[in-house]
Amino acid sequence: TKRIGVLALQGAFAEHIALLNKAIEDNKHDIEVITVKTAPQLSSCDSLIIPGGESTTISLIAKRTGLFDSLIEFVHDPTKTVWGTCAGLIFLAKQLSNESSLVNSLDLLKVKVRRNAFGRQAESFIETCDFSSFIPDCTGFQVYFIRAPIIEEILSQDDVETLYTLKDGSIVAVSQQGRILGTSFHPELSDNDARFHNYFIQKFVLNN
Ligand code: GLN
Repeated sequence: TKRIGVLALQGAFAEHIALLNKAIEDNKHDIEVITVKTAPQLSSCDSLIIPGGESTTISLIAKRTGLFDSLIEFVHDPTKTVWGTCAGLIFLAKQLSNESSLVNSLDLLKVKVRRNAFGRQAESFIETCDFSSFIPDCTGFQVYFIRAPIIEEILSQDDVETLYTLKDGSIVAVSQQGRILGTSFHPELSDNDARFHNYFIQKFVLNN
């Protein structure tokens, strides 16, 4: 049985847990899900999801509670799989192009990320996406962008694959070395639609 931990320091972790459990039930995956707040919980996991929320807050709490070093060790372990959504993507990125001073990054994902890239007027929107180029038959999938970041630059073409771009060319989903997934948006807020979580389980968690 593989175990997925959802980092529960701040942000939308409960929603990830609900959709993971739905994906597991619907597809009868042999997988367990736990919330992660401590180093022993983290080290018991094969995979980690870092939710959306506020990247400054998540990194600050990780520092204060002493979990930060364990997180660094975990995400850089080539046997582990990792998925960061929104603030989680920011927390994983090797480079931030703006508002970077209060985020201690986990220095993992070889991309440059712009925080709050859609500005103030359009802080949040819902986009109906066609993910069928990387998730079979996955069309009409609604995802939320909430004060979302974008991936401005891929820092290693060899390691990082672009999975999805918006019509304006903004990169909003990438994978690295088949074990790290980063998304600007929140598929965990999609109304009971567990297809993206099922994709993470099949392509990352069970494939590594
Ligand atoms: N704007 C937030 C940040 O910079 C991310 C927003 C989100 O996770 N929904 O951390």
